[in-house]
Amino acid sequence: MRADPDGEDYLLNGSKTWTTHAHHANWIFCLVRTAREGKPQAGISFLLVSMDSPGIEVRPILTTTGEHELNEVFFSDVRVPKSQRVGDEGQGWTIAKYLLEFERGSLIESAPLTRALQELVDLARSTPGDGCGTMWDDQATRRCIAELEGRVECLAYAELSALEGGDEPGSAANYLKLEAADLIQSVEEAAMQILGPGALRMKQGAPGAPSPSGERAAGYVTRYLNFRAASIYGGTAEIQRSLIARNLLG
Ligand SMILES: Cc1cc2nc3c(=O)[nH]c(=O)nc-3n(C[C@H](O)[C@H](O)[C@H](O)COP(=O)(O)OP(=O)(O)OC[C@H]3O[C@@H](n4cnc5c(N)ncnc54)[C@H](O)[C@@H]3O)c2cc1C
Repeated sequence: MRADPDGEDYLLNGSKTWTTHAHHANWIFCLVRTAREGKPQAGISFLLVSMDSPGIEVRPILTTTGEHELNEVFFSDVRVPKSQRVGDEGQGWTIAKYLLEFERGSLIESAPLTRALQELVDLARSTPGDGCGTMWDDQATRRCIAELEGRVECLAYAELSALEGGDEPGSAANYLKLEAADLIQSVEEAAMQILGPGALRMKQGAPGAPSPSGERAAGYVTRYLNFRAASIYGGTAEIQRSLIARNLLG
């Protein structure tokens, strides 16, 4: 997004896509281009922008499951006082990298993952199996859940160890984010395996969907689809791996 100086203000033009909950926000921070010469990163500045500024338009992007969480935000000649810049001109990328450590590293995911695993156990215990009994009687299902439990416990120890030092998250943010995203996707995939073809009855009003089990399946399918993005938002898995390779493995 371009930010052109105009007296004591900048004039912003451009757009910011994939902005979660922008329709609820009253402020947004933007990385804007204030210079074109030199290294590309050195021309980025960090601005705080009030969402009620004239010239801002928020357009919804619906998810695969039809929910409105994401938006594209358009800026047309939006006037932002220079006093709302954080740091000096050109320091935006340094500030953004510092913030990203917290976005990635502050997602302490072992607690919600432990809850999701308990729900997985409940789901297996209450879903009819292929023969008699439930999916909990299926050895492969129990082995899969046990493996996931082991990984979640390891993640919890890694999170505690990162917190213990009291320092900034640093490179720990990269491997915690990578593992947590992979784990939540694995948990949701396991739920799909347990539900089997029942998971396909996801649309409200589809044949069989109004039954309690149909509605429950719809909830799991929604979660499964939404968490496909866990390895994208907050920085993709490929980028986390590259940072781990460069900063930790050498
Ligand atoms: C559900 C969702 C919510 C989001 N919410 C927000 C939000 O609230 N605020 C916000 O600012 N952003 C948000 N985002 C944007 C998100 O942070 C970016 O989509 C993400 O960082 C990836 O950037 P990109 O889309 O530009 O992908 P690109 O950088 O274009 O990457 C495309 C593909 O190429 C790969 N790739 C790119 N560069 C390299 C490289 N150097 N080496 C190896 N592989 C590479 C990536 O891993 C990826 O697979 C959200 C995205 C999603 C999907």
